[in-house]
Amino acid sequence: MIIFILPASRGGAERSEAEGRVTKKENNSPLSLHALRVDSSPARGGAWMAVLFALVLGACATAPEPAPRWSIIVHGGAGVIERANLTPEVEAQYRASMQRALDTGGAILDRGGSSLDAVEAVIREMEDDPLFNAGRGAVFTAEGRNELDASIMDGRTRAAGSVAGLTRTRHPISAARAVMQNSRHVMLIGEGAETFARTQGLEEVDPSYFFTERRWQQLEENLRANTLPIPQRPAGAPPAPRAHLTWPDDHQFGTVGVVAFDTNGDIAAGTSTGGTTGKRWSRVGDAPIIGAGTYAQNTICGVSATGTGEFFIRVSVARMICARIEFNGESAQEAADSVIAEVGATLNNQGAAGDGGVIVLDGEGRPAWAMNTPGMYRAWQTAGGEPTVQIFADEE
Ligand code: ASP
Repeated sequence: MIIFILPASRGGAERSEAEGRVTKKENNSPLSLHALRVDSSPARGGAWMAVLFALVLGACATAPEPAPRWSIIVHGGAGVIERANLTPEVEAQYRASMQRALDTGGAILDRGGSSLDAVEAVIREMEDDPLFNAGRGAVFTAEGRNELDASIMDGRTRAAGSVAGLTRTRHPISAARAVMQNSRHVMLIGEGAETFARTQGLEEVDPSYFFTERRWQQLEENLRANTLPIPQRPAGAPPAPRAHLTWPDDHQFGTVGVVAFDTNGDIAAGTSTGGTTGKRWSRVGDAPIIGAGTYAQNTICGVSATGTGEFFIRVSVARMICARIEFNGESAQEAADSVIAEVGATLNNQGAAGDGGVIVLDGEGRPAWAMNTPGMYRAWQTAGGEPTVQIFADEE
């Protein structure tokens, strides 16, 4: 068997695949490794030399863009995010938050900081930002609580840490990093995770710190639609406003995720979320599951996902994308498209199809993303390049 380097196909804008609509964007990834099985019998040597020559010429004709010195890609959740129901003011707020994420992460990477530091710093900032379903601004469980999940992975060592069901730790992503670096474990849940976070000196807050009116009203609507009882407003929450406020971007997602590639070539990925509105029975989604919502492996890829976590767990989304790149020789874009199509073709026991999106960096830090929802808050930047912030599926 011989391994050749072949030019990868360049992507288009939008296409339909399986049951889900997959939106794709090719980002500077003109080369990918394709493993070919070849018959290496000497009699065919001349022919194979010609093929090899043609392939090398082909590769030269679409010369690869150089790998960036550093790069970062960020998401702020995917879902039914449409122009018609996003006011200019709210849209501007999201775009500003996404730009701030790039600025924070880019500054760390540009001064030679590690991808892990960039991922943690950006996610901490987004956990404090009430626009996103992570930390402050997280969605509520059916019992009216905020239960927070997060994970982080170091692509250099494939060390990983995750936490699920936190109710007091202000920055779940830092708890996940502490699990990775300061415990023998990968995943801690509930009370135990919180106790561990406390021993690490991580900041604790009163649970009402995470409260936002917007998410509370989303919970009330969700429970009414499911004919479930509406719990008391949490202790410490501000009094209910007189009028019911309507939120122009009333989608239920808003998870945050970051993948970074640093000047040492190390990839890190992290994800943080409040999960899904009205979740019950200590439900845990994909975000804290290594291989589902988060994955990183140097020279191969880094992934963070957002969407209805049950499907992302079943399809092993993040690991599957990296495996397709590693073993099938797909580009990050091809792998992301295929796996999101798979999510869209997967049904739950009520006949609903999987929905959501992913952000990816390939092994050399080139960004890609895919989704099958009308929108995903997303932004990326490579060293020396222009920052890009996008929300809607049709943005170019
Ligand atoms: N994936 C998250 C979960 O299922 C939710 C989201 O991405 O919005 O918990």
